[in-house]
Amino acid sequence: MTATVQLTGMNQPELASFMETLSEPAYRGRQLFAALQHRRLRSFDEITDLPKDLRARLSEVAQAATLKVESQYLSNDGTRRYLMKTHDGLPVETVFIPEERRDTICFSSQSGCPLQCTFCLTAQLGLLRSLTAGEIVEQIQIALNDAYGTGVKPPRGTNLVAMGAGEPLLNLDQLLKALRVMTDPQGLHIVPNRVTVSTAGVVPRILELATISDRPHLAISLAAPTDELRNELMPINKKWPLEELLSACKFFEKTLKPGERLTFEYVMLEGVNDSDEQARQLANLLNRHNIRSKVNLIPHNAADPLPYRPSSDAVVERFKNILESKGVHTYVRRPRGRDIFAACGQLAARQTTLNTRVVTNLVGAS
Ligand code: SAH
Repeated sequence: MTATVQLTGMNQPELASFMETLSEPAYRGRQLFAALQHRRLRSFDEITDLPKDLRARLSEVAQAATLKVESQYLSNDGTRRYLMKTHDGLPVETVFIPEERRDTICFSSQSGCPLQCTFCLTAQLGLLRSLTAGEIVEQIQIALNDAYGTGVKPPRGTNLVAMGAGEPLLNLDQLLKALRVMTDPQGLHIVPNRVTVSTAGVVPRILELATISDRPHLAISLAAPTDELRNELMPINKKWPLEELLSACKFFEKTLKPGERLTFEYVMLEGVNDSDEQARQLANLLNRHNIRSKVNLIPHNAADPLPYRPSSDAVVERFKNILESKGVHTYVRRPRGRDIFAACGQLAARQTTLNTRVVTNLVGAS
């Protein structure tokens, strides 16, 4: 790519300074921000309230959009998965999940992922690179424009979850920058309280996040109640084992707002981490640290190369009951978009070759 400036990750003051470098008044920056973020326009040609010669100059030095949608898939349950490419040809995936009262957009923070969780398909890509703030913002713009039309105000609230590909806390600066752009009321106007970031447990960044006043909600992926098993399933545990992780969570707890809870996610793998004994160990671990939290049980989303099967509904229910009998708030997450490889842990830039069902669900590539 030529060295043009990428504008979608910029806040209003940054766009104003950028416009000043073109000898344009600062209000042009605000106009540009409204066009890119509020009206979700993705090319300078469409920003017709800017003079034509300015648009021409802009397209020489900057870019209004860099991600390209390669393919998109529509699930039987209404979930949509977008497979996009960065300017340097790397895959980025985003999932749009409609629900009755609100929509959830699950976005990626990295292309691929450096962590090697054995139950997650994204791990097989390895880390390609971290995404820029602009690339994070664009994922949300693309999903909203596709669901409702360019610039159309979403009829329901929008939740954002950083639970797509990548480890968000290994890209914290760009992630926070993107969130600040997206929560600007004059832009996408995402409600800060509706954003959740999920981490495999990058302890120093959890501590850092705790110091940030406009931070998002936090979810921690546990997957195992003991270090022995967690070392196996999530190798990051060797660096930051459970005691250290839960101590960081305890520290983070001090920053929880009234009514807010820390979320622990627990992927349920048949015969691996779903026994009654493991439920008791998990409850004891959480109770010992006494953190204001809840547990989300996620039935494993299977994929061919992964050596696991999901726990049965009965076993998930039993596990939940044991946790609840020990006072742990527990919810079971219903998988969405499994048929199009859009569910948790299934994002690995899958094209039609690996899953023929996807072909019939293709609603249009652009
Ligand atoms: N790296 C971050 C965010 C991405 S994963 C993290 O680890 O939290 C988002 C969630 O999906 C995590 O809770 C993860 O444990 C879960 N997950 C990963 N693979 C899964 C699979 N195959 N089935 C169900 N959940 C999975």
